[in-house]
Amino acid sequence: MDTLHCPGDPDNLYEQTICEVLNTASFLDLPEHLRLILAQPKNEVMVHFPVQMDDGSWKLMKGYRVQHNNVAGPYKGGIRYHGDVKLDEVKSLAVLMTLKCALMQLPYGGAKGALKIHPRDFSSNELMRMTRRFVAALGDNIGPDYDIPAPDVGTNAQIMAWMADTYINLKGNHGRVDAQSVVTGKPLVFGGSEGREKATGQGLVFVLETLLPGLGIDLAHCSYSLIGFGNVGSWTGRLLQDRGAALTHVMDHTGAISNPDGISARALADHVKKTGGVSGFSDAAPCSTEDFYRAPVDLLIPAALEQMIGPDEAALVNCRLLAEAANAPTTPAGERVLTERGIEVLPAILCNCGGVTVSYFEWKQNRDSESWTEEDVDRKLHEMISDAAHRVHDFAASHSCSMRRAAYAVALRHLEELYTLRGIFP
Ligand code: NAD
Repeated sequence: MDTLHCPGDPDNLYEQTICEVLNTASFLDLPEHLRLILAQPKNEVMVHFPVQMDDGSWKLMKGYRVQHNNVAGPYKGGIRYHGDVKLDEVKSLAVLMTLKCALMQLPYGGAKGALKIHPRDFSSNELMRMTRRFVAALGDNIGPDYDIPAPDVGTNAQIMAWMADTYINLKGNHGRVDAQSVVTGKPLVFGGSEGREKATGQGLVFVLETLLPGLGIDLAHCSYSLIGFGNVGSWTGRLLQDRGAALTHVMDHTGAISNPDGISARALADHVKKTGGVSGFSDAAPCSTEDFYRAPVDLLIPAALEQMIGPDEAALVNCRLLAEAANAPTTPAGERVLTERGIEVLPAILCNCGGVTVSYFEWKQNRDSESWTEEDVDRKLHEMISDAAHRVHDFAASHSCSMRRAAYAVALRHLEELYTLRGIFP
């Protein structure tokens, strides 16, 4: 993608993501040099390092950090631990972070990282050792003013605490007081923010509260299904339960379950904490993947991995709206089928921007030595998200385009303005 011709491989996640970005840039008639800059990440860091296992054996680890763009500020984006991760996936997620931060007008660029491991295969001590070596291997490629990781699939507040502690130790006596702001999503007692753990689910709920009335869906009386019941899925479930919505179907890596009378997300979260997955939950019946997709619901919320809704799944689903809590869960071919069937798609860069927004609040609190209350965090998050949702909605209405096209366009206009003001070095 050194030139602007796409796609070479329509199944490749990076090409799927960047082609939609470049098509939107053409739609906006953005200058060619800007499209070229955005077509590839600025830096792609790949590291290999050895880690000793509890039984004395050694494993060689592979880690990635991709920094897509930093015209708006330091690079920002999660680090995932997943055994099937590939460079193109990390590149694609880094692009989405650039757009997400631009859409929210945060002072950040976009990045993403990954360690190619299945975290469930390792003990806590092994995870700690590999996390510390990963941070050491990344060296000055991360830093509180340069690139700030956060949790994503397979990582959590504990892993962020090990990352921050390693970074602080490596900086020794010459470290900064706010060196802990090298990562966000930390535990509360170690520089974390109130409201960060639930932030991505909370942000999605604020997006739905802002946009559903215009789509004729009543959140308090709607039914919905969830793919994924980790951080994002389970918090979305718990917060929607408080608003009266009925969760009837859930699917994760252990299987799918259903209960037409409604599943308690809080009870399911307790079950998942004990057993590791939704399967076997006593207050729901097992169901097949096909029945999961066919289930009649008002909302389908994918909150797991990429590319789960292709044309086959899109032909099965029986919902009015698909809200992308996960990054890139819908393939372009899947989205075409959904559009033909009149199913609206709310794009990930809007639906899941609550995570990075509260990460920004955490970073700001660390730097200003402040602690905000959960009410402060929720109020500021609500204000910023409902503004962004209105900007996207208004662009879509005035240009008769999809919400994805509108969200990318609003983000790209912000980046264009920054490039116009800053110019291009030298
Ligand atoms: P997580 O690791 O906490 O949970 C992942 C979930 O996906 C688990 O429930 C797992 O069972 C499920 N899953 C995995 N493989 C599956 C499969 N084949 N079929 C069905 N379910 C499967 O991850 P998370 O932090 O909740 O992230 C979920 C999505 O949200 C990802 O796309 C991530 O990039 C995105 N996201 C996360 C955050 C955040 O703050 N954590 C912020 C923005 C976006």
